[in-house]
Amino acid sequence: MARLDPHSYCDDAQPQTDTVDWVARVDFASKTLTAVATLTFARSGSGPLDLDTRGLTIDRAETLDGRVVPFVVHTEDAVLGARLTLTLPEGTAGVRVAYRTSPEASALQWLEAAQTHGGVHPFLFSQCQAIHARSVLPLQDTPRVRVRYTAALTVPAQLKALMAAAFVSREVDGDLAVERWQMPQSIPPYLFAFAVGDLAGRELGPRCRVWAEPGVIDRAAFEFAGADAMLTTAEALFGPYPWDRFDFLTMPPSFPYGGMENPRLTFLTPTLLAGDRSLVNVLAHELAHSWTGNLVTNANAEHFWLNEGFTVYAERRIQEVLEGAERGALSEALGRESLDEAIKGFKARPALTHLRTDLTGIDPDDAYSQVPYEKGYLFLKTLERYVGRPAFDVYLRRYIETFAFRSITTDDFVRFTRAALPGALEAIDAPAWIEGPGVPSNAASGGSARLDALRALGTTPPADAVAGAWSPAEWQLWLQQCARTPDDVDCAALDARFDLSVSGNFEVLVAWLELGVLAGYVPAVPRACQLLSQVGRMKYLRPLYKALMVRPETRAVARSTFEACAPAYHPIARQVVRGLLSAP
Ligand SMILES: [Zn+2]
Repeated sequence: MARLDPHSYCDDAQPQTDTVDWVARVDFASKTLTAVATLTFARSGSGPLDLDTRGLTIDRAETLDGRVVPFVVHTEDAVLGARLTLTLPEGTAGVRVAYRTSPEASALQWLEAAQTHGGVHPFLFSQCQAIHARSVLPLQDTPRVRVRYTAALTVPAQLKALMAAAFVSREVDGDLAVERWQMPQSIPPYLFAFAVGDLAGRELGPRCRVWAEPGVIDRAAFEFAGADAMLTTAEALFGPYPWDRFDFLTMPPSFPYGGMENPRLTFLTPTLLAGDRSLVNVLAHELAHSWTGNLVTNANAEHFWLNEGFTVYAERRIQEVLEGAERGALSEALGRESLDEAIKGFKARPALTHLRTDLTGIDPDDAYSQVPYEKGYLFLKTLERYVGRPAFDVYLRRYIETFAFRSITTDDFVRFTRAALPGALEAIDAPAWIEGPGVPSNAASGGSARLDALRALGTTPPADAVAGAWSPAEWQLWLQQCARTPDDVDCAALDARFDLSVSGNFEVLVAWLELGVLAGYVPAVPRACQLLSQVGRMKYLRPLYKALMVRPETRAVARSTFEACAPAYHPIARQVVRGLLSAP
């Protein structure tokens, strides 16, 4: 027997799940799901079967032909959750487990009507990455075990359910509706996803539809109007789109991430709705995951860079085609800023800045950082520079074709790359990237004329004509540059001249408020607190809470803001901010 994933009780000597049939009733009053999960195995088996669970109450278990299956729920582990051991009778082809979820299920956020845009109906959504699917259903919660599934969700009839799967049917019976879905392609369990709320959809093209609350749908449809063209661009780069449809859902403001690449239904933060389509690179990122991540998947969280490094690379290739090389260079520079910041944060734990990590005993949410994204990107960019783009493009297509619908490790990547690009890994000293800390000195860097001009400014404000022509990315970079020496910046003058405190672009606004708070610019503090009460995206919570904790006079404000806002934050975000506020 072997447990091959440090974050799962899955034992590869036991039967492996092939398909899941999930039937669940959503109860907003008790914030629970009452459900039956039927797991069918790739091959019949007997004896112990270990499944992952967290906070589930197991009511009963039986075989597909109705024989009782004895089970034990072990003591809950803080990182892994509780192991559920079933004892399968001879010749068991599958099991049916009846259970209920906990109101504290770590994958689920139950929003009160007041937390939605419309303010009338409640909202429910799931976020299963990295290891939260087990709080929704008992399963082998490791990307190594890919499953296909069918699902039937019973929800209040006035609400709409959506799943990251193909829609089958909706039947209304009195005040309840049953919505059926199926996922014909195999997915790792962290891509299991659904949402329930007052939702409207708008077609954006033959394969793309955007979903949002009715009051947000017009803005969302405008912002993401280019989705279909983006999909065509991505196919030209990476091969045919393997998931049939590319729909996406604009989430309520508490959604903790920029996006989540749930196949057939990407989840997106509403902070992307800048009104000028300037933040659609996040949509490009989630789309790119259709190949790198969802199709070729990391075997466990220790190889997360295979998902995110490849996807940042792919995202920037899409962006380069759609917006030009100059814009790509700015994105790369922004990425490098966030990477350096992340590496600084891991000063005491440099092993977490390796591409391949050892996460035994470590919660993947605690290890989460920009390192797998941006260091992974730089590694691939360095490889691309060494072999040349034409050879790299052939390599990338072959990598995707070879590992499609498989879950792989860094060793699989190394073996494949050695054979496909002989000598390249040695030439760029791949071990220093994969098994070493920080960023190796041979990292490729793009650069551009606009980037150089911006760097040359230092903390000097741009001339009005220049500022008027600046893209949000240039503003963001310049503001971040100023935040390194905040005492040299006259924030009041800047705000008066460029109206930064009322920027409609969250990336610019947060970079500005971070600078303002660090510089002791008093009006920035209430504005930052107001923003912290309106959105729950961790990318913004982190720098603003961190900045508020720098000066003694704003620490109490940080704590009281968090106390007031915490109930509205997603459980994952709450945990992250609590960590920031308790840091010495
Ligand atoms: Zn990603």
